[in-house]
Amino acid sequence: RPRSLSGIQATSDSLHLGNYIGALQQFVEQQDTHDAFFFIANQHAITVDQDPAELRARTLRTAAQFIGAGLDPARSTIFVQSHIPAHNQLGWVLECTTGLGEAQRMTQFKDKSAKNEHVSLGLLTYPALMAADILLYQTDVVPVGEDQRQHLELTRNLAERFNHRYGKAFTVPEPQILKATAKIYDLQDPTAKMSKSAKTPAGRIDILDEPKALAKKIKSAVTDAGTEIAFDREAKPGVSNLLTIYSSLSGRPVEEIVAEFEGRMYGHLKVALAELAVEALTPLRERTLELLDDPAELERVLHRGADAAEAVAGTTIADVYDKVGFLRR
Ligand code: ATP
Ligand code: MG
Repeated sequence: RPRSLSGIQATSDSLHLGNYIGALQQFVEQQDTHDAFFFIANQHAITVDQDPAELRARTLRTAAQFIGAGLDPARSTIFVQSHIPAHNQLGWVLECTTGLGEAQRMTQFKDKSAKNEHVSLGLLTYPALMAADILLYQTDVVPVGEDQRQHLELTRNLAERFNHRYGKAFTVPEPQILKATAKIYDLQDPTAKMSKSAKTPAGRIDILDEPKALAKKIKSAVTDAGTEIAFDREAKPGVSNLLTIYSSLSGRPVEEIVAEFEGRMYGHLKVALAELAVEALTPLRERTLELLDDPAELERVLHRGADAAEAVAGTTIADVYDKVGFLRR
């Protein structure tokens, strides 16, 4: 089986619909077809300020949402990034493999450093740590959203560069970015990515939102000029975003939904989508809250995940250290 690996940052109490549709839904599907590794990126989280107690709680909440959404710890290795020190060990080696200009060209760095008053060095070196997350596990495919494409390209370059210079240590990974769902947009600003770090939560659907709040956000989504329900990213970004979400949550093609709503109004689409989203997310939310009632069990799952991850990561880092020329202890 090819190996799949991906991570989500522990930067919010709830994942949003972009994380769910762009990433987590793919994780769940890959359990059946891949040797699956999924982690909670608590180290990436501190590239921007985090409250310690909150970060700890959010790490468990993110794990609970992984499982609540359908990841099965018996079929997937679920772990916490900071539990595996080899991420940092390889991260350093890859920082030394990355050019400064190369890191400065990353658009996520440019965006996030423009938004934050205080810019940490970690925000710049983050892509090298992300490359380490992936390359440590000899990963074949990385399911992510569109915003991670550039980081994946860098990861591939670093793997090839290292392999070329020192001898083959890494599998060169492929991104898996599903064209239709790789970018879910903010409901209030359908030209911006739905993001945990967005200024206001009004345009963001959190998967743990209460049904009422969830329905309200969908019903007040910004739509476009005109009245026709059609998929057109340029002319109708708002409606197209709603159609994408509808399609993804229902598992039905966009054209079918467009045909169903022919001659009806934007409001009808919103009401139907609100109902669908509540129906799709309520079981996920209930399972997640149940899991959070028993943190000790969640911690056991993460402990077992760490053991399994460490076995793979340990082999890679030992090989890398040898190849780089670090004297054995
Ligand atoms: P932040 O704004 O703090 O970076 P985020 O919302 O981008 O948070 P991440 O934890 O950085 O969340 O990303 C986790 C995964 O979700 C990544 O694979 C990312 O590509 C994907 N993702 C994030 N936002 C979206 C979105 N709007 N549409 C589709 N996929 C998304
Ligand atoms: Mg992000």
